[in-house]
Amino acid sequence: MKIETKCLHEGYRAENGQPLALPIYQSTTYRYSSPDEITKLFDLGPGHMYSRISNPTVEQVEKKLAALEGGVAALCVSSGQSASFLSIVNILSAGDHFIASSKIYGGTFNLFAVTLKRFGIDCTFVDQDADLEELNKAIRPNTKAVFAEIIANPAIAVLDIEKFAKYAHSNGLPLIVDNTFPTPVLCRPIEYGADIVIHSTTKYLDGHAVQLGGVVIDSGNFDWKDYPGLTLPDESYHGLIYTEHFGKAAYVAKMRVQLVRDLGNYQTAMGAFLLDLGIQTLGVRMERHCKNAATVAEELSKNDKIELVNYPTLAGNPYKTLADKYLPNGCSGVMSFNIKGTRERAVKFMEGLKLANNVVHVADVRTCVLHPASSTHRQLSDEQLVGAGISPGMIRLSVGIEDVSDILEDILGSLSKI
Ligand SMILES: *Cc1c(COP(=O)(O)O)cnc(C)c1O
Repeated sequence: MKIETKCLHEGYRAENGQPLALPIYQSTTYRYSSPDEITKLFDLGPGHMYSRISNPTVEQVEKKLAALEGGVAALCVSSGQSASFLSIVNILSAGDHFIASSKIYGGTFNLFAVTLKRFGIDCTFVDQDADLEELNKAIRPNTKAVFAEIIANPAIAVLDIEKFAKYAHSNGLPLIVDNTFPTPVLCRPIEYGADIVIHSTTKYLDGHAVQLGGVVIDSGNFDWKDYPGLTLPDESYHGLIYTEHFGKAAYVAKMRVQLVRDLGNYQTAMGAFLLDLGIQTLGVRMERHCKNAATVAEELSKNDKIELVNYPTLAGNPYKTLADKYLPNGCSGVMSFNIKGTRERAVKFMEGLKLANNVVHVADVRTCVLHPASSTHRQLSDEQLVGAGISPGMIRLSVGIEDVSDILEDILGSLSKI
């Protein structure tokens, strides 16, 4: 099946006489005929026991997401932040260190720079555009992972995935990537060497701004031999060894039965159902988002009130070559641009918009705008802002799937009034 078909037909498939739509199993727990049956569940045999760990509705959406990314297993959690957090703490403990691109999403930056530090986990931020020799300088004896975004939010920098996979693997480390903006419709990072893929499903995968969610997908390709949390016995499961019991799916299995069991951040059945509805139309939505965004980017770059339009398909964009290679079908609906003049002029432009929504959200069916320096990246110093690829007057535009002539009329109309 091609990816657009998988968006509809992977995961839940109705058998003879069953409901066509994915059923919502709104139940916290599952009934068994004897205590023996339940004992098998506690030995991590197949079956559901409690919806803090797994649920039949969520499970079908996990299968769909694993199939879309070409992975062996997936775990749906309550937010993208949860997914980022779990992807690191599943394999790092106090005293460990990891590498992240400095251009990552502001929320993830804060999690890595401040909150994980309080857990004793250290992160070094690197320039993802640097060469391997430069990048290797950040590696330490206790480095355990490399993390980056495929299209950075909101810097719109495209990651050289193969370079980063080489960087991670030549140092014996797994590459974890956040594929939120491209979605598996536009890019499947596992094909280029990523080991773990995470998403904020709150964005395009859902697409309609109805529920928060995240997912962690395991390629099954990384050899965890140097990661004792996966290869040594877990006393909370009578000495079970994850790599032995779950084989290629060990990373996500450990995350589920150990971390999500303890932290309690699993996705809900209703949340997974709504996410699945969104995923069904992902193929057509992404096609339209990309087409509209490319048109809007071209128009904006011709406008003399705008200084810089940052969208990778534009000629002269520093990421065009990488976008042509990794994102041949388009770069999503998200772009950024700077309005010439002061910060106040940018705010005036935003206030003049009628169709586009001023919201702290992107990757929605409706066109959305945001001023990162005063919102998502407010916690960063001016120096950190530059590191994240953001200027104080920058506007992030998330082009929706409306008719592009209405989007242009709104944006150009507001620009003409400043
Ligand atoms: C929004 C976002 C997140 C965080 O996801 P939430 O679902 O809001 O917790 C992580 N990474 C990227 C790239 C995002 O855009």
